[in-house]
Order: sequence, then C-alpha cells, then structure tokens
Amino acid sequence: MAIATRDLQQMFSLIAEEIGKNRDRLCELDGVIGDGDHGLAMDAGWQAAAKAIGELDQSQVVPTPAFNAAAKAFLNAVGASSGPLYATAFMRAGTAAKDKSDLSDDDFLCVFSAMAQGIQDRGKAELGEKTMIDAWKPAADAALEVRRLGTNLSGCLAAAVEAARNGCEATRGMIAAKGRSSRLGDRAIGHVDPGAASAVIVIEAISSFLARHDD
Ligand code: ADP
Ligand code: MG
Repeated sequence: MAIATRDLQQMFSLIAEEIGKNRDRLCELDGVIGDGDHGLAMDAGWQAAAKAIGELDQSQVVPTPAFNAAAKAFLNAVGASSGPLYATAFMRAGTAAKDKSDLSDDDFLCVFSAMAQGIQDRGKAELGEKTMIDAWKPAADAALEVRRLGTNLSGCLAAAVEAARNGCEATRGMIAAKGRSSRLGDRAIGHVDPGAASAVIVIEAISSFLARHDD
C-alpha cells in the first residue's frame, strides 16, 4: 500500500513518541562522550517536525513539501549539530519524493536511503568515525540489498533495523573522528555514540510503522 502524507504524519508522530521515551537515556549517553544534550535536541527536533507535518492538510499536501516542512521545523528547534544533519536528511527525502503524490515501496526506500546520504553529505562522516552514520549507512545499504532479493518494504526495514543495531554497537569500539567526542581520543572507546543510538530508535520506529501499515 502506497505511503501518502497522512501516513508520513503518523510515522513522524510515532518516531517523536519513541524518541521522547528515550530522551533521558540519549542525554546520558551524550553525557559520557559529549555535552549531554542529545536527548533534548532529538526530542525537540522530532516533536517540532511531527507538529509541523501534522498541521498540514493531508488532502492538499504531497510528500515533498511535507518533508520540507519537517526539515525547517527540525532545524529551527535544534541548536546542536544533529539539527542540520536531520534537516538535510528531510530535505533529501523531499527531493527523492519529488512529483509523487504517494510513495511506492521503492519510492520509500529511495527516500530512506536519501536520508542516510543527506546526513553523510552534510556531516562528511565516513564509516568508522563513531557517528550516527555508523547506524544510518549500514541500515540504508541493508534495506536496498534485501530489496534486490525481492523482500517487501517492511522486511527491508527489518533488515535496516538489524544493521543499525549492529552498527551502533560497533561504535563502542571506535575513536570519534567527527563531532564533540573527537576531542576525547581513545577515552571515547567503550561507549556507544549517542547519535548512532538515536538513529536506531528512529529506524526502529519507521520499521514498526511500516510493519503495521503493511498489515
Ligand atoms: P552536539 O554534539 O552539537 O551537542 P548532539 O548532541 O545533538 O550535538 O549530537 C551528537 C551526535 O551527532 C553525535 O553522537 C554524532 O552521532 C553526531 N554527529 C556529530 N558530528 C557529526 C558529523 N559530522 N556527521 C555525522 N554525525 C555527526
Ligand atoms: Mg550533544
């Protein structure tokens, strides 16, 4: 079943809810290797994005301007470095959805991988630099890979969740090369990257949304 603006509204509000539940845990993770605000930043950003997209008239607005509204709201709500990273993800999602009134499974996967690519282009992080890219990139790659084997959309996102969790766990062994925690050198080893942890929550919420949507 194709995904329209009304579905994106539900998906954003589900993500915002899950991030909200994990706000304190994300702040704690960021407290160890950063400045302790990542839960607050993500909570503020996703609440604002969900509100902005939720206020649009679902019968009038197609996905591209909906993603653009989310981008603007997220950027305005967040002063931390995650702000422009997710805002770019949503802008790229909007570009990937261009001229569509609703998104097929393949369109949605293009949107999903455009988000990961947007974060990477904006932050210039490579794999292994202990950032959210270590969750987002393997997740997008896994989703596209299992799609080529004929897996349905919710199955693709299930693969993305597994890859994101593994990628996040792998950040524990990494030294940070980007962002605030890069100043810590090898003292960052042993701790999960907060941005990778929040990426897992976002991707899990997208996956649960799609699992319900496909029923
Ligand atoms: P800040 O570091 O400004 O306080 P947040 O606490 O909201 O911002 O986010 C920190 C997270 O942002 C890090 O855990 C990391 O995952 C991510 N991050 C930081 N810099 C980059 C970058 N250049 N590319 C990708 N992700 C990054
Ligand atoms: Mg921080």
